[in-house]
Amino acid sequence: MSERMPTLFIGHGSPVNAIEDNEFTQGWRDIAGKIPMPDAILCVSAHWYVPSTMVGVMEQPRTIHDFGGFPREMYKLQYPAPGAPDLAAKISESLKEYSIGSDKSWGLDHGTWSVLKQMYPQADIPTIQLSIDYSKHPQFHYDLGDKLHFLREQGVLIIGSGNLVHNLGAVNWSEQNSVYGWAKEFEDKILEALYANDDSVLTNLEKMNHLAKQAHPYLDHYLPLLYARGAANGNSELNVFNQKIIMGSVSMTCFKFG
Ligand code: ZN
Repeated sequence: MSERMPTLFIGHGSPVNAIEDNEFTQGWRDIAGKIPMPDAILCVSAHWYVPSTMVGVMEQPRTIHDFGGFPREMYKLQYPAPGAPDLAAKISESLKEYSIGSDKSWGLDHGTWSVLKQMYPQADIPTIQLSIDYSKHPQFHYDLGDKLHFLREQGVLIIGSGNLVHNLGAVNWSEQNSVYGWAKEFEDKILEALYANDDSVLTNLEKMNHLAKQAHPYLDHYLPLLYARGAANGNSELNVFNQKIIMGSVSMTCFKFG
């Protein structure tokens, strides 16, 4: 019998975090050492943002270098974790109402492997990704996350990999430690909602008007949070780590739920 797994939301930031030793990657390694060793990992990455929900079914998912303008060594990095076709099939069968597609082309993008390379450098834990359907309302993603909670009893670590604030157009490249007021305000509102167990705030961003649009011109890096929180399934134990906004408009803040 596997131990009940927590869920994680990881602020992944730059792909170079895959190989850097910094305060954020240290936080990722620390959390991996504190939670039970997973039997398998299901990651919902901001970077698989497509018009349907799909799950990777490959025996051996490829490492995708889905970024541009980085040093050549970044494109040589591999994360050869095996896939988990059985787990993918179990997800599709258990959530029939979601008509989850089987994908054999994506693999593991940097939202997944840049984090796992730090957390589980041996790349020996079977890992799959679930795509984010960008045509759906946040409530859909929260509910789908909720339906995945049974996997936590089966040794599966569910990770949402995004950023709590992510506005690349507004990034202040010259000041690493700068923080825009609106970025902090958005992050504080989400934190307040999490601590108060008021998850309706998380799924009704339109009530925040301009603030949510500033923090997330697109929701790709926000929605992974809803999977991690949804799969926590009312378990309110919240651990916040790596709490920091960098370059004005990118939050590296991470959560462990449960
Ligand atoms: Zn990203």
